[in-house]
Amino acid sequence: MILGRQGSGKGTQSLRIADAYGCVHVSTGDVLRAAVSEGTELGLKAAAVMESGGLVSDEIMNGIVAERLAKPDIGERGVLLDGFPRTADQADALERILTDLGHSLSLAINLDVPVDEVTDRMMARGRSDDTEEAIRRRLQLYEEQTAPLLDWFEERDLLATIDGLGSEGVVFERLRAVIAKCVA
Ligand code: AMP
Repeated sequence: MILGRQGSGKGTQSLRIADAYGCVHVSTGDVLRAAVSEGTELGLKAAAVMESGGLVSDEIMNGIVAERLAKPDIGERGVLLDGFPRTADQADALERILTDLGHSLSLAINLDVPVDEVTDRMMARGRSDDTEEAIRRRLQLYEEQTAPLLDWFEERDLLATIDGLGSEGVVFERLRAVIAKCVA
């Protein structure tokens, strides 16, 4: 799995990793955005929360991930989780989900980009949920809820922190180097 502040480039790098290693890419942000644009019940529930930069409830997110990880392609190809877990409750749920399915986590990548830099990047990408207020809220929630998970992964000896500054290609090579150690 990959975690990092919003705007750290984890979406872009996740696509490259999935492409290079042939694994399934599961982005919970993409799942939610698809639900919003299709106007499903989930989308209707999630839209306002996403617009405000808040977090969709753990119950909803854990359900989405449990259902997706149970599909057979995950066991066949492996998976890169992007944007989940974001809270301690989600991390506990992930451990349970993987154990129940007979899978396990091999690596947690922390794509590290400082707050000032991600703020500039998010202002520049101009996504509809990238208002100044929503960006501030997302970064605050990241520090409060998601950053503490770094210790959770560290305790399980799963964490690799990667410097996310630099060109896309340079960052990808850094990612490849840590992934190579764990899939070798
Ligand atoms: P992302 O594309 O990962 O930046 O996600 C976009 C938005 O979807 C976030 O700002 C949250 O509102 C919501 N979201 C995505 N993943 C999660 C998650 N694991 N838990 C709660 N909310 C999430």
